[in-house]
Amino acid sequence: MSKAMLAAAPGGPEVLVWTDVAVAAPGPGEALVRQTAVGVNFIDTYFRSGLYAWPDSQIIVGAEAAGVVEALGSGVSHLKVGDRVGYTTPLGAYCQARTLAADRLVRLPDGIADDVAATIMLKGLTVQYLVTSTFRVEPGMTVLVHAAAGGVGLLMGQWLNAIGAKAIGTAGSPEKVALAKAHGYQEVIDYRTEDFVARVTEITGGKGCDVVYDSVGRDTWAGSLKCLRRRGMFVSFGQSSGPIEGFALPLLAQGGSLSACRPMLFHYIEERAELEARAADLFGRITSGQIRAEVHQRFTLSDAAAAHRALESRGTIGATVLTV
Ligand code: NDP
Repeated sequence: MSKAMLAAAPGGPEVLVWTDVAVAAPGPGEALVRQTAVGVNFIDTYFRSGLYAWPDSQIIVGAEAAGVVEALGSGVSHLKVGDRVGYTTPLGAYCQARTLAADRLVRLPDGIADDVAATIMLKGLTVQYLVTSTFRVEPGMTVLVHAAAGGVGLLMGQWLNAIGAKAIGTAGSPEKVALAKAHGYQEVIDYRTEDFVARVTEITGGKGCDVVYDSVGRDTWAGSLKCLRRRGMFVSFGQSSGPIEGFALPLLAQGGSLSACRPMLFHYIEERAELEARAADLFGRITSGQIRAEVHQRFTLSDAAAAHRALESRGTIGATVLTV
């Protein structure tokens, strides 16, 4: 048995209920993981609220965690019992123990603690694919990132800085602006008090950015298009303020032959070899000290609803972990 935060119907944070659930013995190709730390992500709130369709009549949200392999099914050769592992997806991470496909598990290096792993398996891999594959950021490029003091945002600023790009961030309070500046961003705009389009135009001398990484959605997408240079790339990868409404392809022509895409991490790590290569890149940057991955808020797993309230009310900075 395991305790888990089970949701029986979409809704607010109160639908997460601390419940006993059965844990199956691992079948062929599976592993049973005793979890130690669970990452909180904005995507957890999209599933909980019903913004993303439920795969089942009741669900356990959560897509990022770390723990120890307790048992293995047949045919698993890349792991042994006792290994420390991390994963992102499948859904169901808000629990003490679970059985899942072993090919989703990555062994953790000694230099990466469990709680740190629970902040990077989803958020860090997201930064990895966004800056290397969705759009390849090169040294000297100018990049705009919204929610720069968030979990993804703090990792992305450091990664862009390491590439040698000029990172411009937006953040929603003076405290968040200061934090983002300490994590790789050369310029940070408080978009609750300043017009970010005007400020980006000023900072880039009217040239605009090579790429905008926009995870805020409804409140920022139209301004983001105006921050791009001719033939720039709009990467819409989230909707923390709500879904985008009113987007139409002709806007890309009017903005200067822009490109736009709407990527998701899971399409960049479906193949085991790709998952391993991206994780190796991420882990190497963290163990070498090039990127600092930190836990900024901790809640107990049974108090996950409080973590959701904090995240949805813009009350968090950086990454949040649920302790098991
Ligand atoms: P964050 O820590 O970035 O939290 C969201 C932040 O968004 C808030 O802290 C807030 O920062 C900002 N925000 C702006 N407007 C609102 C609003 N109306 N309500 C709530 N927040 C708002 O979350 P994560 O790091 O977990 O995720 C960041 C984004 O990346 C999410 O949109 C998520 O869905 C997306 N994502 C996408 C992936 C993909 O592959 N497509 C994978 C992983 C994450 P501030 O106060 O500074 O404005």
